[in-house]
Amino acid sequence: MNIISSRLLRSSGLVTFGISTRQGGVSPEPLRMNLSFNVGDAKENVEQNRYLFAQALGFEVDRLAIPMQIHSNVVKRADIPGSYSSCDGLVTDVPDVYLCVSVADCIPIFLMDVDQKAAAAIHAGWRGTAARISESGVEMLVDEFRCRPERMVAFVGPGAGKCCYSVGEDVATKFSQEFVREERGKIYVDLKAANVSQLLDMGLSREMIEVSPYCTIDERNLLHSYRRDGARSGRMMGVIGLKTDPVR
Ligand SMILES: [Zn+2]
Repeated sequence: MNIISSRLLRSSGLVTFGISTRQGGVSPEPLRMNLSFNVGDAKENVEQNRYLFAQALGFEVDRLAIPMQIHSNVVKRADIPGSYSSCDGLVTDVPDVYLCVSVADCIPIFLMDVDQKAAAAIHAGWRGTAARISESGVEMLVDEFRCRPERMVAFVGPGAGKCCYSVGEDVATKFSQEFVREERGKIYVDLKAANVSQLLDMGLSREMIEVSPYCTIDERNLLHSYRRDGARSGRMMGVIGLKTDPVR
């Protein structure tokens, strides 16, 4: 199985972290390692894929805290595993609760405060990014757990890249010009940069923000992409969970 890791989150020693890819699952093409029940995949395939992914990272599937994503900027506190309605981000300071997000082009973003030992998982598509969900995620960590942005580590995961993510003018106008590029009559938005900018605005330091170089649309063999595969696209899952016994 191929799992995307984060140098910064791993070196903290405080969290279990990983983002699944398209590789290693039991579902038929093009789903393969699909972790969503909502894309027409067989339930037993998804259950098996989730089991394999959780086993590879070393946690139990029933410890997942799962947001029922709606492309909002709503972030909720998750003290126990289970489903959380109508939100696109979760925060916790409880070890062994595995916050997750489901993605296939939208940007998965993960935060951790090394002092307060709290974490966040965020799902940021264009709507969530325009509604400043990364900012909401940092705010929730500050409000709920007295975290300090300057002590946070962030991973901005793989998603639709500025190379491929073309949008209509109606979408482009929701973003600051610095994140918009025009080329041969097409307009492209840089969702990763827009989210990094929100994290910087909130006080995170640049060297504590790691950005995945992967564009989901380009990485046909490695990653799921809704833009590329349409209704047949599977979903990846990104997970962050505080360790019960941190190792430094
Ligand atoms: Zn691309």
